[in-house]
Amino acid sequence: MSDIGHDYTSLSADVLVVGGGPAGTWAAIKAAQAGADVVLVDKGRCGSSGATASVGTGIWYVEDSPGLREAAMASRETLGGHLADREWMARVLDETYARMDELARVQRYPFPVDADGRQIRDDLQGPEYMRRQRIGVQRLGVRILDHTPALELLVDADGVVSGARVLDRQTGQVLSITAGAVVLAAGGCAFQSKTLGCDVNTGDGALLAVEAGAELSGMEFSSAYAIAPLGTSLTKTAYYSWATFYHADGSVLEGAGSTRGRSVIARTLLTGRVYARLDRATPDVQRAMRKGQPNFFLVFDRLGIDPFTDMFEITLLAEGTVRGTGGVRITGNDCSTSVPGLYAAGDTATRELICGGFTGGGSHNAAWAASSGSWAGHAAAGFAARRVRRPDQLRPVGSAGIRPAGAPTHDYREVVAEVQRAVLPYDHNYVRHANKLRPALEALHQAWSAVRDGLTGAGEDLFRAREAAAMTAHGRWMFHAALQRTETRGMHKRLDYPQQDPAQQFRLLTGGLEEIWTRPEAGSRTFAVTGEAA
Ligand SMILES: Cc1cc2nc3c(=O)[nH]c(=O)nc-3n(C[C@H](O)[C@H](O)[C@H](O)COP(=O)(O)OP(=O)(O)OC[C@H]3O[C@@H](n4cnc5c(N)ncnc54)[C@H](O)[C@@H]3O)c2cc1C
Repeated sequence: MSDIGHDYTSLSADVLVVGGGPAGTWAAIKAAQAGADVVLVDKGRCGSSGATASVGTGIWYVEDSPGLREAAMASRETLGGHLADREWMARVLDETYARMDELARVQRYPFPVDADGRQIRDDLQGPEYMRRQRIGVQRLGVRILDHTPALELLVDADGVVSGARVLDRQTGQVLSITAGAVVLAAGGCAFQSKTLGCDVNTGDGALLAVEAGAELSGMEFSSAYAIAPLGTSLTKTAYYSWATFYHADGSVLEGAGSTRGRSVIARTLLTGRVYARLDRATPDVQRAMRKGQPNFFLVFDRLGIDPFTDMFEITLLAEGTVRGTGGVRITGNDCSTSVPGLYAAGDTATRELICGGFTGGGSHNAAWAASSGSWAGHAAAGFAARRVRRPDQLRPVGSAGIRPAGAPTHDYREVVAEVQRAVLPYDHNYVRHANKLRPALEALHQAWSAVRDGLTGAGEDLFRAREAAAMTAHGRWMFHAALQRTETRGMHKRLDYPQQDPAQQFRLLTGGLEEIWTRPEAGSRTFAVTGEAA
């Protein structure tokens, strides 16, 4: 199961990294370069698992020129509802620039070159990127445990995060890994909607963090849906900017579009079918598209469809907090959280700092994963080196799905199906209205009660039960926050509150497991627990 292949019943490290996507691998690299002994666990296989490993990702790489940087920062500010932070954007642009340079020089990533021989560094082939990241991690002596999901965090008597309990999926054994600090980089939550590479993204990181006492931010910005040919999983919405969208009778679907106009597609899909054709791509663009994202065309080639000339049926797949922006609240420049010893990176963390309420897909998320992972790994190494460890006083803090209040009565599959019924429909999550949000949230609360009281398992079923618990918790946090934000801002679209409200220009914090709470970040206004979501 692992690179090291030795027997163990428990492990100790300076830094434990949970998740081996771009954020986790950069965290492991930076922690190891800072001198830490690092263990990285992945529920799948580090380098092949998660949202980046199977796709091509554009990355927010901008040359170090004041004009270009200014334009880059301004580009999504309005779309994001003015919730992003210029200082964070500038830091991410600098860090991404440095990390892409390291990727070229150290990991020897083969960036394509332009006519002048200069490397083009704003696009990455996910499989190749992640293959090289894994090698980079291994070269630094990091112990990688594949197929080993983190189940719950361990904290010491002072509440300092001190490791995790993990499942060895091959033996079914649960192991403890003690550590001086933990970086959560387990991706976001796409509710197993079948979007490519994301069925491992069940929101485990946020659940682990909240159980240890961390807060979340931006959970209402979780309504990312992306376009895919019907029956397939490849969501690459950017390429649909060259599409025309059609009704089943071949007439043009007016107002539909890949960026602005996706809600027209969602509304039409509620009662009918939608078709697309990439008929606005010129021959030059077509060639560039094939070169830039070859995996986009695999699906069409296999189906015998020429997407530039044939009409094909499409769907929208939910991507929750993978291409939404909500996640664990970051409290320091080093990606620390409100819990000592706990750091969050990549899609596990909120990306509002650079995206506001608008999707981070297409560029920002990849830049955030590399930057936040690097900062979190470096800082975790420092924290671990400084702290006094108390390994005899550790306690696990996992709850739902792992320690039910009563006898096990539920199957994780039923729970997942219930959560998906509540969360995936376009008229629950994409185009929102209290009339649909309230009953969906109520269904999620009931699912949570079932999970809390009667869901667990052994071996593989234990890890699946935890995934179901994390998805249920995510749904509740998302919809509670969505009800509290009584306006339309960023990707959060309320049919019952269609305008942006200047009085709500703040980030919303969310947390809690039994009682879910929400409050504006600045503390200027506080919503009662019995607010609209109750
Ligand atoms: C189809 C698609 C296209 C995209 N294109 C772009 C793009 O062009 N530009 C852009 O900026 N962004 C894009 N994104 C988003 C981008 O892929 C993600 O933001 C990025 O992968 C986040 O990196 P991460 O390391 O946080 O998470 P991931 O890459 O999802 O990695 C998470 C890792 O954690 C592991 N894991 C999960 N739970 C556990 C657990 N309990 N224990 C241990 N390990 C665990 C998973 O197995 C996985 O390996 C796209 C996403 C999709 C789905």
